[in-house]
Amino acid sequence: MNHYQPLTADCEHLLIQVLHASDRLRELGALSEHADPDFLKQVLEEAAKFVGEVVAPLNRAGDEVGAQWADGQVTMPPGFRDAYQAFWRAGWPSLACATEDGGQGLPAVLEALLYEMLSAANHGWTMAPGLLHGAYECIKHHGSDALKARYLEKVASGEWLATMCLTEPHAGSDLGLASTRAVPLTNDADGRYALSGTKIFISGGEHDLSDNIVHLVLARLPQSPPGPKGLSLFLVPKLYEDGQRSAVFCERIEEKMGLHGSPTCVLRFDAAAAWIIGEPGKGLSAMFVMMNAARLHVDLQGIGLLEAAWQKADAYARERLQMRAPGSASRAGQADPIGQHPAMRRILDTQRAWIDAGRMVAYRTALELDVIKHHADPSRRASANRWCSLVTPVLKSAWTEQAFSGASACLQVFGGHGYVREWGVEQHVRDARVAMIYEGTNEIQAIDLLLRKVLPDGGEALQALLSELAQELGDGVDAERTRAALAQLARFTQTELLPATGSPGASPELPYWLADDFLRALALVLMAWAWSRIAAVPHPDADRWGRAQTGFWRWVWPEFETRLRVMRETLQAP
Ligand SMILES: Cc1cc2nc3c(=O)[nH]c(=O)nc-3n(C[C@H](O)[C@H](O)[C@H](O)COP(=O)(O)OP(=O)(O)OC[C@H]3O[C@@H](n4cnc5c(N)ncnc54)[C@H](O)[C@@H]3O)c2cc1C
Repeated sequence: MNHYQPLTADCEHLLIQVLHASDRLRELGALSEHADPDFLKQVLEEAAKFVGEVVAPLNRAGDEVGAQWADGQVTMPPGFRDAYQAFWRAGWPSLACATEDGGQGLPAVLEALLYEMLSAANHGWTMAPGLLHGAYECIKHHGSDALKARYLEKVASGEWLATMCLTEPHAGSDLGLASTRAVPLTNDADGRYALSGTKIFISGGEHDLSDNIVHLVLARLPQSPPGPKGLSLFLVPKLYEDGQRSAVFCERIEEKMGLHGSPTCVLRFDAAAAWIIGEPGKGLSAMFVMMNAARLHVDLQGIGLLEAAWQKADAYARERLQMRAPGSASRAGQADPIGQHPAMRRILDTQRAWIDAGRMVAYRTALELDVIKHHADPSRRASANRWCSLVTPVLKSAWTEQAFSGASACLQVFGGHGYVREWGVEQHVRDARVAMIYEGTNEIQAIDLLLRKVLPDGGEALQALLSELAQELGDGVDAERTRAALAQLARFTQTELLPATGSPGASPELPYWLADDFLRALALVLMAWAWSRIAAVPHPDADRWGRAQTGFWRWVWPEFETRLRVMRETLQAP
């Protein structure tokens, strides 16, 4: 079995030639010195080398051996600790952290590409550092000076890994039901709390990758109101500064469908001494920094896993000979590579269409994150915020769904050989499934988009986003088609969706019935925007890009009309 190899040339083409990343970064003060295309390429190529040589070869052992629990300790699969130690010592986790915190101060978009490659190479291993940047931002923006002095640099560098402890047995999508408690410790000079409760499904809750683990935990103070407003955020380390172990116990790890290289832990907090992060009752908004970063990472997992499955299927389709392809010049008795059969080409080109468009939208979103942090113009920062707010749920939902269905389609290219373990493609199908569930299930993302971000302002932010996309299009058939679709979605929202859902007698259920279709329609116009922009920039390998472009318009795009039709029928249903 060949393992995944990062192919940076494709990513560089999209980032540098199509999205003009260097021009955008040059506008961003502190980042302008890192905008040179050769510098961006150099970082990506170094990252690809590390990922391909160190992380990718461990993927199979991660799946087959998995993380092992015994007596509250978790041993990671062979090679995982050494690879992690090499990773943080080489400075990869701190790539996009501020220099004053010991980071390298590079653009967030480089970190995004790094995590796409890592997830493609080894999803299980990557779960551990995947939460680091969000934890860093959370401590940086909401932690007290004393907490920052103790934890910020260790988390920025990745020397200590971090977790996000939200979920409880009875509180999943509805975190407002969480009941973990934090009680102030009496006469504690350090102002600490005793935190008690059980958190489940905690990725990397216990392991031997790093010498310490920093848990960020949502809990409720005494007399706090019920629901989300009563939640505060706390920090509990595995080990305190004096080396003493905290009262956090890993009771077991889950047996899962996939992602065996990541320990999914049940953690019991037994009056563990904890520090509050941010203000009481503002835990969810402090945690939101972390959750938003994590959502983009989950989308990149989707894109990475689909790329890994596609690479395997593409290589297999070139070698496996079966039957004669229509119009083939092969002689009787000979067979053609299955990649020449239209049905297999369709599978491969469709997945390429999703991967390339997903990269465009994800890299652009990461560039907007850089704009939010560094642009001098407040109106530009506001438009970047709007982009991230509307596009992040779409990316998280649509591309994780495609990672699973697309990896399954790639498995089909192998026939029975895909269903057995030898070629490794079935692992991608199993691993990809969870990305549709965690970080807010895909259904919750769709509700977030439509009910919190589109309807409340009368569609204004959406309209601005759609206009921005339209303005970036050039000439040509694809651009015209995309412009028409953007206008169509804007019109549908203004003249059909908003009046129907906002009318006095409208059923409160109505927008919830539409949310998934709406998210999907927006995903499809984003893909059309991406493919129109890719088509506008010639590439020497016209066949490679042309096939995926055709794949998009022929096999993906027609779903746009279907989604509009489903929404119209729902709106008109009695
Ligand atoms: C491998 C793995 C790793 C994880 N890592 C972490 C972690 O590190 N930290 C952490 O805190 N959590 C983690 N989670 C938990 C994950 O975030 C939750 O599983 C997820 O939020 C869903 O919660 P739930 O499983 O309780 O499902 P539920 O909330 O019970 O939902 C069940 C189903 O109902 C649907 N549903 C619920 N409410 C609504 C609604 N209002 N409208 C429409 N549909 C709805 C959901 O979409 C879902 O399909 C992890 C989970 C897994 C499996």
